Amino acid sequence: MNRSRAATFLLLSSSPLLVASASGQVQQADVLITGGKLYDGSTAAPITGDVAITGDKIVYVGPKAPMTAKRTIDAKGMVVAPGLIDAHTHADHFLEDSDKGQRANPAWVMQGVSTVFVGVDGNGTPNLKAKFAQYQKPGIGTNVVSYVGFGAIRRAVLGEAARAPTAAEASREKQLVIQGMCEGAIGLSAGLFYAPQNFATTEEVIPLAKEAGIRGGIYDTHQRDESSYSIGLMNSTEEVLRIGREGQIPVHYSHIKTLGHDVWGKSADMIKLINDARAKGQNVTANQYPWLASNTGLDAALVPRWASDGGASAMLKRFDDAALMPKIRAEMVKNLDRRGGAGAILITSGYTADDSTGMTKGKAAPWTGKYLSDVAKMWKLDPVDAAVRVLREAKGRASIVSFTISEPDIENFMKQPWVVTSSDGSVGHPREYATFQTKYAVYVKQKHVIDEAFFIRHSTGLTADIFKLDRRGYLKPGYFADVLVFDPNRYVPKADYVHPAVLSEGVQELFVNGVAAVDNGKMTGALSGRPLPHTPPPGTCK
Ligand SMILES: [Zn+2]
Repeated sequence: MNRSRAATFLLLSSSPLLVASASGQVQQADVLITGGKLYDGSTAAPITGDVAITGDKIVYVGPKAPMTAKRTIDAKGMVVAPGLIDAHTHADHFLEDSDKGQRANPAWVMQGVSTVFVGVDGNGTPNLKAKFAQYQKPGIGTNVVSYVGFGAIRRAVLGEAARAPTAAEASREKQLVIQGMCEGAIGLSAGLFYAPQNFATTEEVIPLAKEAGIRGGIYDTHQRDESSYSIGLMNSTEEVLRIGREGQIPVHYSHIKTLGHDVWGKSADMIKLINDARAKGQNVTANQYPWLASNTGLDAALVPRWASDGGASAMLKRFDDAALMPKIRAEMVKNLDRRGGAGAILITSGYTADDSTGMTKGKAAPWTGKYLSDVAKMWKLDPVDAAVRVLREAKGRASIVSFTISEPDIENFMKQPWVVTSSDGSVGHPREYATFQTKYAVYVKQKHVIDEAFFIRHSTGLTADIFKLDRRGYLKPGYFADVLVFDPNRYVPKADYVHPAVLSEGVQELFVNGVAAVDNGKMTGALSGRPLPHTPPPGTCK
């Protein structure tokens, strides 16, 4: 008799609570998870209890299930919670891979995540129906929510141009937002930090946000300036609030942070600004990752925006312009200082000349895994000149992690009642594989910045509430069976900055729509995830 049969037998023979269904048969669920420390995703205190699953739904949550099951899982000593929700990811490269094992979304399911958000930073396509079908047909390991992205839209209408749209172009942008929302986008994402999105004024964005708001969407943003690059952190934070007010749409700051020593300590001011807006009734929330280093492009981090107008090839041409280069170089020196110098920039990957998709699959370049300071030494160059050489050889693009975030600011944001967990997971940064375990191991267990209940609430039910996800984020009868069982003593990260792609540990079981994606601590390769299209209010889509 195997373990789960033995458990079923015990439950059958010893439970006085067995009840009969209307037909006189003992009720039998598909899966029964018994005796775990159970958090339901709300602010309620945990109980010791059972969760029963039948098909893709939860059928029972409570102290002692009055039913048997085909399979019983003993969760004594384990934490049982809703499947975690990651509000900002770049998981697309897994979900769109031709390989089944990749589409199972290993980095995320091994963190206990059952739903990921994509199309962030302004990147979401307006052709979402096709995108969702592309996920659904071959199958994916987690559920997926997507934004329609301002960047994708602006690029489709204006290319890389650094100018305002004409009236006709502005109306075309609007149409694309409407298309995206009506094809199931959760909202409009923007990344006004990035070119060409940063060429847009606030006034260009507001009417687009409004169209998303009319259709029940949210405005999610990688804000224009998380540092002191352009308009400054506080003005940028204000800009987001203004877009929310004038666009009449809830706003959500993605990966909220203070980037660079110029703005360290500013979390208190940002929090005050946001709390004041919330006190006046504005709907403002944020997501955050628990890491000291951010991840971006070497070009985005160091090269001034005007010099990258027109894209990578235009930027590389400007590098060859003897009249422009001194000005570009001078600004790069300033930007490097903002980011804490060459010793604070770790180059994680880069496009190689023969592979334009090198962010995920390119050959290891000589700078991969090295700090910019070491690359400069290796080439006997000044760090800025070394960066220019990397950009030249990488055809304009190389990704970096940059140690630019301060610990007290992280902790300050994390404790806010309106901040939920996100990974911003992307290739080359351990946050892709280890965000949730890191938040738990470091901020719950080691530093006691938040407690276990807060960690779970802010990674499940609260996230589902902010985005109005349909029957997700809670352990409740009738809700979809996204259920996580983890061992609190073994729920730890394994990836680090030098080895970013190592699976995390401690997830015992993860059910996605009632099917085990992780079973007994191992991935099953199940592809039971679903696209979760948002439904706009009636009459807002024709
Ligand atoms: Zn971002």
